[in-house]
Amino acid sequence: MGIHTGYEPARSCTGSATPGARALMSWFLGAYSAQGGRNLGIYNCAVIPGSTSTSLHGEGRATDLGVPVGAGWAQVLADRLVALSAELGVQCVIYNRRIWSGSYPHAGWRPYNGTHPHTDHLHVELSWNSARTLTAQRVQQVLGGNGGGTPAPAPTPTPGARPTIRRGSTGDAVREVQRILNAWYPGLARLAVDGDFGPATEARVKYMQSRAGLTVDGIVGPNTWRRLLGG
Ligand SMILES: [Zn+2]
Repeated sequence: MGIHTGYEPARSCTGSATPGARALMSWFLGAYSAQGGRNLGIYNCAVIPGSTSTSLHGEGRATDLGVPVGAGWAQVLADRLVALSAELGVQCVIYNRRIWSGSYPHAGWRPYNGTHPHTDHLHVELSWNSARTLTAQRVQQVLGGNGGGTPAPAPTPTPGARPTIRRGSTGDAVREVQRILNAWYPGLARLAVDGDFGPATEARVKYMQSRAGLTVDGIVGPNTWRRLLGG
């Protein structure tokens, strides 16, 4: 029960949701969509509001399990995720202005003072091991319920009218990509946001594509744009 192995912070954006996070969401929707459970998203390259740290959503290891405000079952689920954190590889749960973290596994629920009160969703983070290996079947074994269906896709931003750009391209679209890549990889050397798609920008695009499981061609077309814009 609930003894946890610690807390693995996010380092930089990876470009996609992990299999474990997808599995947890899949189980959740199967078990709770009839009671109003919704997919509020997994992957999102963003900083934690009010801080400069990368959110676990940027590594695709955090799920936002949408719940009706005040639903009794949501607190029961939050408590079970904490009690069974070791079995599930859960390293953090935030719900209804309280947080449980694997950094202080025995402290129980503590006050959460972040900007978002988390009354309409459970923010649930997985360890890397769990993010790579957890399945919906395993979640169902541990938590029960009738989960295991296919997750409804979260709304994904469309690339809009952005042009395909590559080495030699110039202009605002290049500047946008350079800005996004700097935000994704704060640990790497900063790209000049100069609107000039040179070798450094191309190398960074290829790095992002390899981390995200995309075709590594250094060209920012519709698929790469979709990922960069948070889809
Ligand atoms: Zn979240």
